[in-house]
Amino acid sequence: MSTPEPRAPEVPARLVFASGEWTEGRAQIVERSPAWRRSSALMQLSLWLLIPIVFFIPPHIPWVLLVLMLGAYRAFNRFREHRTLLALHGVCPKCGTEQNFPELGRMKRPHVVRCRNCQWDLRVEAPLAGAAS
Ligand SMILES: [Zn+2]
Repeated sequence: MSTPEPRAPEVPARLVFASGEWTEGRAQIVERSPAWRRSSALMQLSLWLLIPIVFFIPPHIPWVLLVLMLGAYRAFNRFREHRTLLALHGVCPKCGTEQNFPELGRMKRPHVVRCRNCQWDLRVEAPLAGAAS
C-alpha cells in the first residue's frame, strides 16, 4: 500500500525547549512535491473501494460512514503532508538524554516531539531541504 521511501540525506535539526534552550540533532526529512501529495491522497481514497464489502456487515450504514470518513481523513492528511520526517536523533535540551524520537511521519507546524526521559515537549526546527519528487 505504501510506496518505498526515498533515501533522504541527514540534515541538522534543532530541538528547542519552551525556555529557548536548544540542542542540535540529526533528522532525515523528505520534502513532498504537490504531485506526490495529490497522488498519495488519491491512493488513500482507494479505501472507499471497501464500501461495497462493508455494507453487507450489519448494521450496514455505520460501517459505510466509518470507511467514508477514514478514507477522507487519511487523504486529507496526505494532501497536507508537505514534509515527512523519516528519522530524528538528538539530545534533549532539558535533561540531556540522547535518543531516537518516535514521532515520525507528517511534519506539523510546529512539529513537537516528547522526551521519553523527562516527558517535556520539544519543538523541532529544520531547514528546508531540496525538494524530492
Ligand atoms: Zn528530556
